[in-house]
Amino acid sequence: DISGLENAVNENTAGIMIELIQGESGVNPVSREFAEKAAELCRKNDIALIVDEVQTGIGRTGKLFAYELYDLKPDIVTMAKGLGGGVPIGAFCASEKFASAFKPGDHGTTFGGNPLSTRAGLVVLDELIHGGVLENIGETGSYLFDKLRQLADANSKIANVRGRGLMCGLEFSEPIAKEIGEKLRDNKVLVGVVGDRVLRIVPPLIVTKSDIDYLINALKEAI
Ligand SMILES: *Cc1c(COP(=O)(O)O)cnc(C)c1O
Repeated sequence: DISGLENAVNENTAGIMIELIQGESGVNPVSREFAEKAAELCRKNDIALIVDEVQTGIGRTGKLFAYELYDLKPDIVTMAKGLGGGVPIGAFCASEKFASAFKPGDHGTTFGGNPLSTRAGLVVLDELIHGGVLENIGETGSYLFDKLRQLADANSKIANVRGRGLMCGLEFSEPIAKEIGEKLRDNKVLVGVVGDRVLRIVPPLIVTKSDIDYLINALKEAI
């Protein structure tokens, strides 16, 4: 809601923090128009554009960060989850203007910036950028979406397939998501269930085409 966004910004606003593809609430991408308006409001009001890439970042959408899909230039980017490849870590990057508000030691946390997690993060980035993982996401992501769209065309219980890369929301036309999620789990496929109509499908970034075939067959059976 672009006018809602415009009305929400006033002289007390420090920034706009946005998930470009909402994860937890069912893989809902914002429109290009909305993203561009958020960026424009930040520029005009001299406030921070903060993109929450905890779920969309680190290759999930086929780009290193989802803001690349929208041609945005955020002031601050948050990341976590995939960054450590299973090792716990959270981080954020900021442009010089915003980063200069912090000095080393200002932001202490018990487990922040420890050598194990940061080393794991560096290995993950190296594998993504130089080890072919990002290319794999592009390929397996389009394979996943092709297969899901074929399944949707042949099945009236699937109302919508949305997302990018290996971040997919599958919406049913009936309230069957929980039941389908349970059937998939019985078949050793773990998906997120959002409300009663949406599955959030976010496979590992090293997923193979045969893994995706397995998922599609399990989905067919469950439906
Ligand atoms: C999990 C998650 C967070 C929380 O990250 P922490 O590292 O636990 O603070 C924030 N944003 C999104 C989109 C998430 O999925």
